[in-house]
Amino acid sequence: MPDLVRQSHLFGTPLREPPKDAETVNHRLLVRAGFVDQLMAGVYSYLPLGLRVLKKIEAIVRQEMNAIGGQEILMPSLHPKAIWERTGGWNSIDVLFKIKSRTDKEYALGQSEEEVVTPLVMSRINTYKELPLAVYQIHWKFRDELRSKSGLLRGREFYMKDMYSFHEHQEDFERFYEIVKNAYFRIFERLGLSAKATEASGGSFSEKISYEFMVLSDAGEDVILFCDTCEFCVNADITKQKEGTTCPKCRKGFLKKAKASEVGNVFDLGEKYGKDFDVSFLGRSGKKQYPVMGCYGIGISRLMGILVETFHDEKGILWPAAIAPFALHILEVGGRDGQATRDAAEKLATELSGAGLSVLYDDREGARPGEKFADADLIGVPWRVVVSPKHLANDTVGLKRRTEREERAVRTRDLARTLRETESLAG
Ligand code: ATP
Ligand code: MG
Repeated sequence: MPDLVRQSHLFGTPLREPPKDAETVNHRLLVRAGFVDQLMAGVYSYLPLGLRVLKKIEAIVRQEMNAIGGQEILMPSLHPKAIWERTGGWNSIDVLFKIKSRTDKEYALGQSEEEVVTPLVMSRINTYKELPLAVYQIHWKFRDELRSKSGLLRGREFYMKDMYSFHEHQEDFERFYEIVKNAYFRIFERLGLSAKATEASGGSFSEKISYEFMVLSDAGEDVILFCDTCEFCVNADITKQKEGTTCPKCRKGFLKKAKASEVGNVFDLGEKYGKDFDVSFLGRSGKKQYPVMGCYGIGISRLMGILVETFHDEKGILWPAAIAPFALHILEVGGRDGQATRDAAEKLATELSGAGLSVLYDDREGARPGEKFADADLIGVPWRVVVSPKHLANDTVGLKRRTEREERAVRTRDLARTLRETESLAG
């Protein structure tokens, strides 16, 4: 099916004014450009443009999780109180949303799902031969965050990939962690982001560790110290290291400080959840054993926010091709007597979408050319194609990348080929 959306029909056209309470770039641009709508602090609706981007990020994450043997499942968001009492989370997790039914039964909304996945998986595992196993899901999480003022960076309802792995012993978790880490770096690279993995705090065997994946961003809520020479990186919260000192790892580089956003996280869960639920398997020695577990999160909606924080200019968003809502934005700017340009633009939109490109076509008759150009910059589709009377007279169209200043004239009949030859249209 050709992927062609006419802007005159698009639900969620750009707003003239930025939202009043937006404190961050991603909030301001995503609402203004018609990608999302804020229902209340930290809770958003995704409009057609925004949902396209969210689903593209999701698809990349899914591909990479499948590639390392993760099996996708979907677990409930509504949990009985008992499973959260069993692990101690009911009283110790401050962000846990708790709700009461009309018969006064209590429930929790999923903020992470060890409580569901551990009994679920272990009820089907009998011996070590069935391990390791990794299952994951992609859906909404709920957290009673106190401050949700960073747009998609901190939701109270947000979209997350959470994977859980089950192992015979600690070494096997460590082996799998390395595999997941590489998959995470591939994901961030495909999204055009450069991420750093924080070092484990202690590294002693019994001490349970978590690894964080950080993207440098001024909108981020974390502060990290990282080496300017090697890959050493640590959360400033958990280290006594100071900026400017020699890197403790390579002993060559110096530590730099920066704000960052945590886009992914890995927890070494050890045997905690197996013990809490008393779910075990038959080990090699013939004795019962608790699984060693790992939990691996990626904040998909937060990533969407971070992408906007990373890729924007004063006019709007600059989506990387791999996750852009459309490959191509065609603008018809014929003005009042634009029947000829309308016909030409319509033909082009049909042809290019028919050739497999996703096309957003600005066919709005009431909108002035200046408005169309401004909206195109705001929305941030990677390529802009302008069909104007001047171009039409020369059998050309105006072609410009969102990242370029000047458009160039391309012969209309060469456009499809020119675009096909540009590898950044992939995705
Ligand atoms: P943070 O320190 O930012 O609160 P966290 O350590 O609580 O994050 P995890 O429980 O590990 O996060 O969740 C996995 C991933 O989900 C995080 O790495 C982050 O990308 C994302 N995430 C966590 N909380 C939120 C939130 N409130 N809104 C959006 N994304 C979130
Ligand atoms: Mg948190």
